[in-house]
This record gives sequence, C-alpha cells and structure tokens, in this order.
Amino acid sequence: MPLLVMKFGGTSVADLDRIKNAALKVKREVERGYDVIVIVSAMSGKTNELVGWVEQTSPLFDAREYDAVVSSGENVTAGLMALTLQEMDVPARSWQGWQVPINTTSAHSAARFVSIPPDNIEAKFAEGMKVAVIAGFQGLSPEGRITTLGRGGSDTTAVAFAAAFGAERCDIYTDVDGIYTTDPRISSKARKLDRIAFEEMLELASLGAKVLQTRSVELAIRYNVRLRVLSSFEDTDETSGTLVCGEDEIMESKVVSGIAYSRDEAKITLFTIEDRPGVASAIFGPLSEAGVNVDMIVQNISEKDYDESHPGAVTDMTFSCPINQVARAKKALEDAMGAGIIKYDDLIIDTDVAKISVVGIGMRSHAGVAAKMFQALSAENINIKVISTSEIKISVLIDRKYMELAVQALHDAFELEKSA
Ligand code: ADP
Ligand code: ASP
Ligand code: MG
Repeated sequence: MPLLVMKFGGTSVADLDRIKNAALKVKREVERGYDVIVIVSAMSGKTNELVGWVEQTSPLFDAREYDAVVSSGENVTAGLMALTLQEMDVPARSWQGWQVPINTTSAHSAARFVSIPPDNIEAKFAEGMKVAVIAGFQGLSPEGRITTLGRGGSDTTAVAFAAAFGAERCDIYTDVDGIYTTDPRISSKARKLDRIAFEEMLELASLGAKVLQTRSVELAIRYNVRLRVLSSFEDTDETSGTLVCGEDEIMESKVVSGIAYSRDEAKITLFTIEDRPGVASAIFGPLSEAGVNVDMIVQNISEKDYDESHPGAVTDMTFSCPINQVARAKKALEDAMGAGIIKYDDLIIDTDVAKISVVGIGMRSHAGVAAKMFQALSAENINIKVISTSEIKISVLIDRKYMELAVQALHDAFELEKSA
C-alpha cells in the first residue's frame, strides 16, 4: 500500500472543528488508496501554556519533568484525532512516542531521533488499520524518560516517520498555503513559491523562518524525503503548496529566493581585550562550555598601546547569541574574567537587535548581492551592527525597531514580489 505522512500544526488542530476538518483531509487520502501516518501538534497555544506552568512551578526546573509536562499537549490531540477518524468510519488508532517507541537521545528539550522501529505500526496496518496517529514533538530516552525535540519539533517527527516508513511524500499542513519569499504575516508583498531548494529552506529555517523546524529540513535532505508545505484551511490537491526539493528539480535558481528574520537576538561586546593568539579561544571556549550558541562574530582591528594601563595591542570583540542565553553568556564571561582566563574593560549587552538574512542558491554565481543589500538598508537609514555571510546567505544585525522596515526594503530591492 502506498503511504503518506500528513502533519497538522497547532492552528490546524486548535479545536474540535479544526480536528474534524483535518480528519476529512486524511479520510480523502485513505479513499484515494493510501495508508496514512498522521502527526499532530498540540492545540495552538497549549505548549506555551504548559511551558508557563513549568516555569511558574519551578524556575530552575528539572528538564526531564519539563519534557513530561510540555509533551502532553500532543497526547490530547493524537487521541482526539484517532477518535474523530473512527467517527468517520476510518480505522485509526493513536500512539504516544513511548508506545512506538520513538527512540531519541536523552538531550531533554532538544532530543534527536535514534530509531523508530516500524514493526508495531506496520502490524496494525497489516490488520486493516488505515491511519496511525502519532503524537508529534516527543520521544523516549535510553533511560526510559519522555523527551521532546525542541519547539516546532512535530515537523521533525513527520519527516522522521516519512523516512522510516518510506512514505511517498511528507505533507506539512499549516496556517499558510506554502513557503513564501518572506513571512506573509510581516509583508503583504510576500509571494508563495511553487518550489524551494532543500538548502535554501535549511538556511531560511535556521535563520528564523519558523514554517519548518530546521532539523526537519536536515532530515529531509539526509533521507531524500519529498517534503511539501500546504494549507489545512483550503481545498488542496497534489499540486498545492510548496515543494521542498533538490536543486535539480528547480528550473531557474534566483539570486535571492527568500528573506528570513529573527527577533530573538542579542549582541554582546567585550571592550578592550588583548589582541594576541589564543584570546578568541579563551572567550568562546567558556561560552561553548556554558551551552551558548554563538552566531555572528566580529573583532575590531587592533589598536596599539591604547594607554599606559593597556600596553601592546588591544581590540574589541562582538558576538550575537539567542536572547534567552544572555544571562548564561554573561555569567560564563564574568566567571572567565574572575578566573583570569580573559580580561576586558567593559561588557555591553544589547537586547534590542534583530537579524535579517537574504538567502538564495543563485548567490553562488552572482556578485553584488551584499552591495545591493547594504544599499537598500542605507536608503532607509538603517544602521548595520554586525554582518555575516556564507555561500548562499548574507545576514545583518540591526535595531529591532527597524525589522519590518528592513524586510520590506529588501523584499523590494530584490524584486521578490515577482517570484513564483
Ligand atoms: P504550525 O503550528 O502549523 O507548525 P508555525 O506557526 O510553526 O505553524 O509555522 C507557520 C508560520 O510560519 C506561518 O504562520 C508564518 O507566519 C511563519 N513563516 C515565517 N516565515 C515564513 C515563510 N517564508 N513562508 C511561510 N510562512 C512563514
Ligand atoms: N507543540 C510543539 C510546539 O509548540 C511542537 C510543534 O507544534 O511542532 O513547539
Ligand atoms: Mg511549527
């Protein structure tokens, strides 16, 4: 029997009517002759509520109990989806992660898949079950504890099941009708793309476009899963939505395909550090040990003999990291200073920044993208604080209050409203 994976995000299962609407889409695929694995998220807002309850109960919470609590939203929707399908005479049953079992690492709240033995579910399909409903976002650690995969992790559950069961396609149903040139909630000029290359989607996701969890795109690339994003609120068919696929399936690659933003950024600067071999390692070593995900880095040019108390070469070092890791970063740097590992005059934290990135595989063979980007931002009088580039993306850090303006300006500059 051909098999499809269909994933429904939080807004698509937000109440009983929406679950019914999603179940009708599943039923239609069963009628077309597919066995279906359905992955569900928690009802929208539920996971945030659960996280809030954990934080109120225990500020320095035990990560294992955090996962036990925040994974529970998906248990409810999985059961309700199976019941709704049964009411429609579609043979269905639900599985929580541990029942499959979805084996993961024990990195609580950021667990990774280890294995998904298919036997249990395949046996039920062989008995005539048509739909397996799986609670997304969760798994089981080697210690027998419940794990979660990080926010947005149901996307990754869906791709992992598509890979494990050799699904014909993995359809991600959400509250927009595909992947756009930028977040359609930020720019009314955003255009839906028919196709986007895996690598571009990977960059967009890791740079803030939350339409797909980054890890889900990584897995889709690794296992060559045909991945599609489409609307759960509209009538859809095989041609709906956006296909995430190999570059070879895209006729013409644009220089810039999309713009991503991330508002959860912070910038930290260490002033007047020594400029000598080993200083970067002395700064970023302790940060890494403290689990801080450093993103962009700039080091100023050296200044010689700054004053009598700073003989020799000195410089400043700036880096960005997620805003919720600032406290941890500050402590790691202050501890390193206290232990004499590093020396700085001042540590300044700026939490009012956002990162804007332009992404496109065409950048590999086109010069001038950075110049055009900087020109467009300068025309709006937006100051760039930090820049970083890779083969197919350019990112800048700017004041957060200019975030929407910057996205619009770049969308115009690269004429993305002409994309399709
Ligand atoms: P779900 O609950 O279905 O997983 P998410 O909220 O995680 O949905 O992801 C869908 C959201 O992603 C959209 O509502 C949209 O605001 C946002 N988004 C960000 N960037 C893009 C983009 N380039 N294309 C489409 N949606 C995007
Ligand atoms: N419910 C989880 C979250 O809100 C997982 C998901 O929806 O993908 O992050
Ligand atoms: Mg999501």
